[in-house]
Amino acid sequence: MDHASSPAAALHSVRTRIAAAAARAGRAPEDVTLIAVSKTHEAPAILPVIAAGQHVFGENRVQEAMRKWPPLRAAHPMVKLHLIGPLQTNKAREAVALFDAIHTIDRIKLARIIAEEMARQARTLALFIQVNIGAEPQKAGVSIEDAPGFFHQCRDELGLPITGLMCIPPADEDPAPFFESLRDIARTCGVSLLSMGMSGDYETAILHGATHVRVGSAIFGARV
Ligand SMILES: *Cc1c(COP(=O)(O)O)cnc(C)c1O
Repeated sequence: MDHASSPAAALHSVRTRIAAAAARAGRAPEDVTLIAVSKTHEAPAILPVIAAGQHVFGENRVQEAMRKWPPLRAAHPMVKLHLIGPLQTNKAREAVALFDAIHTIDRIKLARIIAEEMARQARTLALFIQVNIGAEPQKAGVSIEDAPGFFHQCRDELGLPITGLMCIPPADEDPAPFFESLRDIARTCGVSLLSMGMSGDYETAILHGATHVRVGSAIFGARV
């Protein structure tokens, strides 16, 4: 991948490729938010990436993020944190307190607890519904068929500010049709943000409308 010499150099290369993909899609590079996925990496790897100007980070475990990020954020208050991994309801309180966005809303029980916690803590997070776009039994996410109904339940019954959809296409398949399908569902729901694309396919995702790409190993190297 891209982590040739250092995470900061790899970040630059990813940013350049994001800008090129956006240009090819006739989109502005600012319309694509790069989420640097720092899971499994510790402060010494993360700090140079912050210093290189990256302010949006993604983590997939609440526990790990709670251990790593409070000191980093105290020193770098402009940092925004996105939860991109599965969320257990018993971690919802901590997640709402720590994160600025959650990409993995996928069941009504979780949606209800997030709504309660946002009210209780007077915090508003950006929320994405995760769609199981490849209908894979082992993957999280609402089904394509249930997505619009779940979206309306979240928004109209719980008042949740759902602003986008997220997906992880099946590995080893052309991701393009899955990205296109997520874009269709977002149109149906009337939401504008699309969290899709990882190290191997973020340029393809941008061509299909991604507004948030989640890139880990192409910046930080292999996970530890
Ligand atoms: C780990 C992870 C990523 C980043 O994966 P890379 O292939 O390392 O870029 C993106 N999205 C989710 C949900 C992840 O868990």
